[in-house]
Amino acid sequence: MSHIIILFSLTLHCLNYVDGDKNIGAIFDDGTFLLESAFKVALAAASEGQDDPFGGTVVKTSPGDILETESAFCSLLENNIFGVLGPTVQGPLQHVQSITDSLEMPQMIIKPEVSQNRNWSTVNLYPHHIAYSQIFADIIQMKSWTEFTIIYEGAELLPFLDNIITMQNTNSGEKILMNLVQLPDGDDFRFQLKTVKSSGSLNYLINCSLKTLPLLLEQAQQVGIMSDDHSYLIMNPDFQTVDISPHKHGGSNITGIRLFDPSLESIQTFITSLNEKVVELSEGQIENAIADDALTLDLALVYDAVILYTSAVNAMELEEGANVTCEDNESWEFGSSVINYIRTMEIDGLTGIIKFDEDGLRSDFEVDILEVMAHGFEKVGTWSLEDGYTETRTVIPPTEQEGSDSMKGKHFLILTALSAPYGMLRESAKKLEGNARYEGFGIELIEELAKMNEFNYTFDIQADGVYGSYNPKTKKWNGMMEKIMDGRADFAITDLTITSARQKAVDFTSPFMNLGITILYKKPTKEPPNLFSFISPFSSGVWSWLAGAFVGVSVLLFVLGRLAPEEWQNPYPCIEEPETLDNQFTLANSFWFTLGSVLTQGSEIAPIAVSTRMAGSMWWFFTLIMVSSYTANLAAFLTVESKFYAITSVQDLANNPYGITYGAKKGGATFSFFKESDNLLYQKMYHYMDDHPEYQTATNDEGLERVKSETEKYAFLMESTSIEYMVERNCDVARVGGLLDSKGYGIAMKKNSPYRQPMSESILQLQEEGKLIRMKDKWWKEKRGGGVCQDDDVGGGDAQPLVLANVGGVFIVLAAGCGLAVLCAFLEMLFDVWMISHRMKISFKDEIIAELKFILSFSGDTKPVRHREPSGSGSRSSKKDKEDSGEAESIGDNRLDPAPTPRSERSSHSHHTLHSRRQSNAVQMARMRKYSGRSIL
Ligand code: GLU
Repeated sequence: MSHIIILFSLTLHCLNYVDGDKNIGAIFDDGTFLLESAFKVALAAASEGQDDPFGGTVVKTSPGDILETESAFCSLLENNIFGVLGPTVQGPLQHVQSITDSLEMPQMIIKPEVSQNRNWSTVNLYPHHIAYSQIFADIIQMKSWTEFTIIYEGAELLPFLDNIITMQNTNSGEKILMNLVQLPDGDDFRFQLKTVKSSGSLNYLINCSLKTLPLLLEQAQQVGIMSDDHSYLIMNPDFQTVDISPHKHGGSNITGIRLFDPSLESIQTFITSLNEKVVELSEGQIENAIADDALTLDLALVYDAVILYTSAVNAMELEEGANVTCEDNESWEFGSSVINYIRTMEIDGLTGIIKFDEDGLRSDFEVDILEVMAHGFEKVGTWSLEDGYTETRTVIPPTEQEGSDSMKGKHFLILTALSAPYGMLRESAKKLEGNARYEGFGIELIEELAKMNEFNYTFDIQADGVYGSYNPKTKKWNGMMEKIMDGRADFAITDLTITSARQKAVDFTSPFMNLGITILYKKPTKEPPNLFSFISPFSSGVWSWLAGAFVGVSVLLFVLGRLAPEEWQNPYPCIEEPETLDNQFTLANSFWFTLGSVLTQGSEIAPIAVSTRMAGSMWWFFTLIMVSSYTANLAAFLTVESKFYAITSVQDLANNPYGITYGAKKGGATFSFFKESDNLLYQKMYHYMDDHPEYQTATNDEGLERVKSETEKYAFLMESTSIEYMVERNCDVARVGGLLDSKGYGIAMKKNSPYRQPMSESILQLQEEGKLIRMKDKWWKEKRGGGVCQDDDVGGGDAQPLVLANVGGVFIVLAAGCGLAVLCAFLEMLFDVWMISHRMKISFKDEIIAELKFILSFSGDTKPVRHREPSGSGSRSSKKDKEDSGEAESIGDNRLDPAPTPRSERSSHSHHTLHSRRQSNAVQMARMRKYSGRSIL
């Protein structure tokens, strides 16, 4: 049956020959020409200068197909081979191994094979796993890792961790903590990497295939574990062939090894020959299969295996190959001798010195230790079994680019919080991944900064929204601050306030936004119209001053009326020589006069004297202005809707007049402001908030919801920029009062970070270019429903009562006018007294004393006429007439009469008018005597 299968299988693979006298077989996977080309290049190199060149028979099998591989191997035996190379896949390899062992057919292996037995006919050029693991154990010791996570791909790689897993302490005696994480099948390792990240581990030992490695590094970058604080140790020997450019500026320390230096001439010659061979085998379809720096270990090992084996055959001068078959159970008589000989050999191959220990294992080899630098790979040391790790690193002086270009190409983990509009989840019908999941002001700002400084970044969300405050009891920071300080994130951006306490723990960039603390509360409610709103146009102060002015001017008019001689009038115009004179400015009349003009109604009273007219006109002017101002402001009050403001300032809030509770974000900068303030009012508010932790919120949004709540009277102390954002979208809330302080938001980073300066410079540049303000308008006013409340208050506004400052000027004018009127009244009085004293030839002093006594007695509105003209002389006017015509006039009694006697009329009427009036008075008096029969004098 097995024969049938073998025959059947033989039809499935084809043999490929290289002419030569000494034939070596090789079993490779179907698919690539590389291994086959390497084999043929090596045979050519081994045959160079040989009389009996080596030939080869290559058979290709489907990867992992054990039966096909067995038949392939058996068919190789028919070619009288000296030995076999391969296969390269684990299952078939072990199967063929058991056959070669029984046939004592030397087998060269180039793949890790942990179950290799020293007695088997196998020689493995791949470094032995125990020695291999020792390389990394030594590097870990050298790096003094006290914790690390081993990330490995398949269980078959576990033996390569032998010497690492058994490590207990560092060289300095510190305990080493290690985690093991196995990568799943497939190509998504993000979940495992996130777990590693959340464990807080910063050092990673990676053992995975060459195919997986770039993917893993890329996903590590996405997850955010590729920053300055993370270190990687890569176990794959082909690490140097990976395209490391996405990670070389990322800041992480990435270390690996190599078994050969690709820049060596022997390697470059091999690569050239290899590429030529691939072109030949693929009939020109594949060109430049291998780049100058992309030679993998398996190809170099194929070459070394052929050289090693052919050297042994040459040295042993074997002429005949093994004439054995799978069917006969006979073994090759020289087989074990060849194996033993090889194990004693030492040659210089592409992969360094090739030699084997007493167990036939390649334990003694030398590797270069590489580190990823900004310019690519750099050899920093060597490792050999004998010497262990030897550092060869040359200290490179910082390049001139360090500083402004120091962020170029690096990858940073940026911490943010879901706080609108700084960081928000992007709304999308599609499932988004990575940074595309977030948007907002902070996200856009980082995009801009990344463009300017050419860095890469991954966002990470602070799930609990805690920005960070210091706990003096535990002496620890929490939230985002803690992560920045611990190096679990490179930058933190959100509405993160720069405070003095935080500045001591981390570095901040220049502020990208300025703000202050203020109050968020429900919009003021509309008040029902006020029945007494007519009082509102003037403040109570103005009303009091107005009342004062009214009383003052009224009294003044009363006094002026008494002072001014013109105001004393003959009550009966028909009597030429009245005994008394009347004054219209009685106290009551004075009040009536002023009231009439205030109410714009007028009165029958008309001032006669200059002084009273002056005071009266000033009062009219005053009332004109006051009434106009009142009317204008009343119109404003009647059109403006009056609103009820429960609180208008932080003082109101602290006094808590309507049972309004208040709070701030827990552990936030606002809360800290009240805590740290030495202002008594703010201290009082801090104690209130501290005593009522239930009024503190976890986020600003929670604060907003409480403010909006119908069931609660709650005011939220918050930062003005966030309030601006909220009132744009929530029309039922408003900002109350002014700013309590002034501060800014900045991007936080580790203390003494070299990135502070370039980031600050870029922020200032964005500010100067006006980009920051445009971004703010976009995220505040346009995006996510901004601007819905914009027109809410149109037609609103607030009418304010007029205060003294608005109308004070008119009071001054009134006062000045009144002063002038008083002066005028005195002059009038003095003049009049002087005239009388002169005319009556009496003492001016006596007359003025008598006049003042009368005035200041304030007794009634009737004044007796003290100085009468001699009889028949007529009125003062007629006397004046006489004086004017040059007639001398005898002077009557110049003393105050015990019985008042009529006094001439002293009106200011014109001479002509007086004359005619005198005539009509005389007629009138005659009539009155006739009819009444009694004297009115
Ligand atoms: N911006 C504040 C902070 O950085 C949070 C909000 C607040 O306290 O009002 O802590």
